[in-house]
Amino acid sequence: MKLLLLGPVGSGKGTQAAIISKKYNIPHISTGEIFRWNIQNETELGKIVKPIVESGNLVPEELTNKLVEDRIKKQDCENGFILDGYPRNLAQAYALDKMTNLDKVILINLSEDEIIKRLSSRRMCSKCKQPTSLQWLVNGKCEKCGGEVYVRNDDKPEVIKVRLETNKVPNELIDFYKNKGIFYKIDATNDVEETFQLLDVILKK
Ligand code: AMP
Repeated sequence: MKLLLLGPVGSGKGTQAAIISKKYNIPHISTGEIFRWNIQNETELGKIVKPIVESGNLVPEELTNKLVEDRIKKQDCENGFILDGYPRNLAQAYALDKMTNLDKVILINLSEDEIIKRLSSRRMCSKCKQPTSLQWLVNGKCEKCGGEVYVRNDDKPEVIKVRLETNKVPNELIDFYKNKGIFYKIDATNDVEETFQLLDVILKK
């Protein structure tokens, strides 16, 4: 199953992608996560994209397209994958179309007020690398593995505003997948488990 999860930043698509990845045994490919890994590990790519990612702007197309093309050729993608954070615009969708054909595109929808509320309480776990939230922490640590948590540089309030603006899901991207007949939309206002149930109905179709 080749899947794309669309949604505004903070909609919980990363969390949902991790759940789907485990249940369906297909890799979760988050371009944002790959860029952050490269930044943390000070790779050549990391050095180039660090100022761009940390200011909340988009990494140039050539770099992003090549990164995804190389990643989905890997053996663990044989039975499919979940794309998260790519494609973000029509140009990237055309580029992806030349690499592979998606089976389903699901938009996880959430209001802007709810997004800001969620992003300012989001924490990342330094051990299991999964996102969590202030209210889920146990004794200030990750509720899943007990790891130390931190605030992503791009989850700081001044950067959240830029990211909301630059990362809106463009209507033409939605139309592109609607025209292919593979577009679905769910509402993510409910909790993680309920949102996953809505997603799973679509995945089983
Ligand atoms: P995300 O975790 O998806 O919010 O991505 C974090 C940051 O990584 C973004 O604000 C961009 O700087 C960069 N990034 C991730 N995916 C893409 C993409 N498809 N195109 C360009 N830049 C990206």
